[in-house]
Amino acid sequence: MTPRRVASAERGLTLAGSETSAEGAADEPDPIAPVPAGILRLHAGDSAATPIGAAAEEFRARCFPGASAAEWNDWRWQLRNRVRNLQGLDRTLRLSAEERVAVERLGDRLPVGITPYYTALLDALDPADPLRRTMVPVLGEFEEAPGEAADPLNEDGHMPVPGLVHRYPDRVLFLVTSFCATYCRYCTRSRLVGTTGEYHFNQEQYQRALDYIAGQPQIRDVLISGGDPLTMQDARIEWLLQRLRDIPHVEFVRMGSKVPAVLPQRITPELCSVLRRYQPWVSVHFMHPDELTPEVAHACGMLVDHGIPLGSQTVLLKGVNDDPQTMRRLMQGLLRIRVRPYYIYQCDPIPGSGHFRTAVATGLDIVRALRGHTTGYAVPSFVIDAPGGGGKVPIAPDTVVGWEDGFLLVRNFEGQVFRYPDPAGPVR
Ligand code: SF4
Repeated sequence: MTPRRVASAERGLTLAGSETSAEGAADEPDPIAPVPAGILRLHAGDSAATPIGAAAEEFRARCFPGASAAEWNDWRWQLRNRVRNLQGLDRTLRLSAEERVAVERLGDRLPVGITPYYTALLDALDPADPLRRTMVPVLGEFEEAPGEAADPLNEDGHMPVPGLVHRYPDRVLFLVTSFCATYCRYCTRSRLVGTTGEYHFNQEQYQRALDYIAGQPQIRDVLISGGDPLTMQDARIEWLLQRLRDIPHVEFVRMGSKVPAVLPQRITPELCSVLRRYQPWVSVHFMHPDELTPEVAHACGMLVDHGIPLGSQTVLLKGVNDDPQTMRRLMQGLLRIRVRPYYIYQCDPIPGSGHFRTAVATGLDIVRALRGHTTGYAVPSFVIDAPGGGGKVPIAPDTVVGWEDGFLLVRNFEGQVFRYPDPAGPVR
């Protein structure tokens, strides 16, 4: 038990009892509903092999005393018992007055949704806890600033068919669900996740997207995202992967997911077998070194052992990970569990994101503090997704000083300038 969790237990939070499993059914697509007709159910039963770390064990005993270890390790149990409302938050955290008002005011905005596993990682007493800031609403969400937009990347404007974003010539983004295991308060797609909205993620929509991809031979790379595709059933994931692999010009398939970080129990041997058959790469969304638990190491290890390359994506957020030490711990920790740090994103300007967005210079300082000071594999690219749909733009600290007498002058990580023979000079 960590000191802060001892503290929360000692201060006598009333945390007994669990959420009922009925919640969520009315306002979200059900990720565990029967698969559509025509999709074979290929696997039954999941393994309970995921370890239970100290934080989760203490939390389970305190907040879900009726849950067995097998239930805790069942990803469906985790989804059914998510913290989704004020009642659930009051059972697990001591809310600040601001958080309470924000939750009460949410209305049809991005809902609250936190797996019990991930709730166990939040500091029950401290609203400033980094992970808690990413999950529990605050009043900043209601303050909109100039330049913010519900669809800041204009994804809707690049959709030839619903749910398929075609912005780059050879790549598409295939949105397959609006459901996530947890809802991140800074989500770029907060306009569509957690609600059914105008998107209809069903087989007919999938088929239209697949037909479009099949008819565009220049598309060689498909990123499956949402929502979180790994919250879907194995059979549905397999159906989609199989259809994509049947398209001869699709040579690279990626899945974007936060599941290994927030619902590691979902990474079952059965899911890994499906993924191994179709060999997608998986980009995992990690935010903070506190997420790197034994459960997460186990989940990522299973994926890698099944031949699935893992990269990470991290959104730079004020008060969460906006300092070099935290980012270094995260990136080095990811390498330890065989996840290659890939991107740090400047936070997208969705409405009410001002309390999360840092100066771009903060990200540059972080990259400067990483580059040359740790393993190159631990240094991700820092990018801004250009508002309006301009694509990802890498933002890098200046290393090129200039040219002089046939030499390129470059600045290293210690600020020293070196001369590299470059007779062609600054000709582009
Ligand atoms: S898991 Fe991804 S898609 Fe879902 S709420 Fe978080 S950032 Fe958004």
